[in-house]
Amino acid sequence: MLSNLKAQPADKILTLMAAYREDPRPAKVDLGVGVYKNAEGVTPVMRAVKEAERRLVETQESKSYVALAGDPAYADAMIGLILGESVARDSIAAVATPGGTGAVRQAFELIKIANPAAKVHVSNPTWPNHVSILKYVGIEAVPYRYFDTETRGVDFEGMLEDLGKAAEGDVVLLHGCCHNPTGANLNLTQWQKVVDLINEKKLLAMVDIAYQGFGDGLEEDAQAVRLVASSVANVLIAGSCSKNFGIYRERTGILMAISADAETPIVQQNLNFLNRQNYSFPPDHGARVVTTILTDPELRADWAAELEEVRLSMLGLREQLAEELRERSGSDRFGFIAQHRGMFSQIGTTPELVEKMRVDSAIYMVSDSRMNIAGLNDKSVPILAKAIVDAGV
Ligand code: PMP
Repeated sequence: MLSNLKAQPADKILTLMAAYREDPRPAKVDLGVGVYKNAEGVTPVMRAVKEAERRLVETQESKSYVALAGDPAYADAMIGLILGESVARDSIAAVATPGGTGAVRQAFELIKIANPAAKVHVSNPTWPNHVSILKYVGIEAVPYRYFDTETRGVDFEGMLEDLGKAAEGDVVLLHGCCHNPTGANLNLTQWQKVVDLINEKKLLAMVDIAYQGFGDGLEEDAQAVRLVASSVANVLIAGSCSKNFGIYRERTGILMAISADAETPIVQQNLNFLNRQNYSFPPDHGARVVTTILTDPELRADWAAELEEVRLSMLGLREQLAEELRERSGSDRFGFIAQHRGMFSQIGTTPELVEKMRVDSAIYMVSDSRMNIAGLNDKSVPILAKAIVDAGV
């Protein structure tokens, strides 16, 4: 029976990582997988995370099950972090999930239960897993124009025009900040226009926020999601702690649902039900670490300070790369790299030139030309800039 199984397409990023490992050239640069790395190429355990884990080892007396929705204190802490005071707590249903991916998956399944006819409108491009999970769950993904390959900013006119074609009850999937893969984001005035369109067309807003604190700051990066949550009738929010707490492998995420026309306890029951069907109790360790940090003023301040260092280091690399490219190319056409926010920038070139940079200069980036800015350091920025200009990007 298992002989009926067909080969699954190889994951592009994982294939790229394997090729990078096998490349013997010493000056090779890995800009592939979306993991933060410091200047030494290490993904460190954050200080506050180490301390919270130490406290947990000392004080935790049971590893028994917690609750289908996860620890309520985790939900409270994450709602505070992502939504602040923008929405009344009792109108939010929330469950802990295995990472942001778990939250995205549960959100799509909830959509499927609530409105099997709904289509999900996704930015072109978006995180590839959005599209593949939608397909797997059996929901049609409809791309809307997003990345302008000329300006490398957002094609906002095109975006509004495409979203204007959505049918009532459809879902608009938005990246709360630090768009993956492009790095190009809406400003708040544009967010307001998207919110108006969503309300006018009676759509559901889904916000995926996986990089809070990586763009313009913890509060700044939450402004858009807060605007949506407080002004759209039906909102789903998928949050991830993988990046901003650096706890990728602990699988720590959250799904929130806010609805003006449904009863919160019923929405909550459905979220709990989905957890029960898919994996029963969500992972607890990462969630408890996050709760420990967010509820202890000292740990929270230390975490926020370390996250700010991470954010500023990526911003510094962006500025250095944009400047280096300006000098080498004698033009300002790469200025967008300093305007983009988050861990990624899509330089907007062809798979052929991406391949040329890999062959000629040992630069490893995803074929859609997304580069992980955190894969750079002082020494590799000039190598990358030279490769980009030499390849004729
Ligand atoms: N959404 C987006 C846009 C992402 O980039 C990621 C991480 N690559 C996730 C969700 C989920 O991450 P994780 O499951 O590791 O928390």
